[in-house]
Amino acid sequence: MPVDRHQNMSAIRSRNTTPEWTVRRWLWHSGFRYRLNDRRLPGHPDLVLRRYRTCVFVNGCFWHGHRVVETRAGEGGEGTDEQLPVDLLSSACCKIPHTNRAFWVAKIRRNRERDQQTLERLREMGWHTVTVWECELKGAQREQTLTALVNTLREIGLRERPAPKPTEYDDYYDFELPVAAEPTFSDPYKQND
Ligand SMILES: [Zn+2]
Repeated sequence: MPVDRHQNMSAIRSRNTTPEWTVRRWLWHSGFRYRLNDRRLPGHPDLVLRRYRTCVFVNGCFWHGHRVVETRAGEGGEGTDEQLPVDLLSSACCKIPHTNRAFWVAKIRRNRERDQQTLERLREMGWHTVTVWECELKGAQREQTLTALVNTLREIGLRERPAPKPTEYDDYYDFELPVAAEPTFSDPYKQND
């Protein structure tokens, strides 16, 4: 029983220190409100800020293949590129395991392609998209990344602010000006006779 509880607590703690949680907490405290994992949108974005018409994705560097480079296996050798299988070069934050390499390359490539398609579909639907990477939330980069995210959202907010509907003005501006009487001037030099 105490063991279960301990495991449960540590599970909660680890969940609350994920990159996604970091972003959520920062945005919340900056006054932004969002919906989580909106199932109605392509890719079920991690955070949806409807007012800003923006979807935020917080991506793990490994699963989403951050900064990996696509290459053709055996590039520079015989044969046309099209016939050569696509390979991936690991990056600093996405190290492709050597064991079962082909499996991981295929998996990460699929994830990357799906991410691309998701972003394209969202943009076609008129959504802004922001991707925050796990490695950009580490150490000294963290605050800079989160500040940049907030600034980006505020900028989007300024652009997205809808023009006020005419009805909202009715009470204030849609009134008739009283017809002004013909201006009359009295000529101080006119003889009054
Ligand atoms: Zn990364």
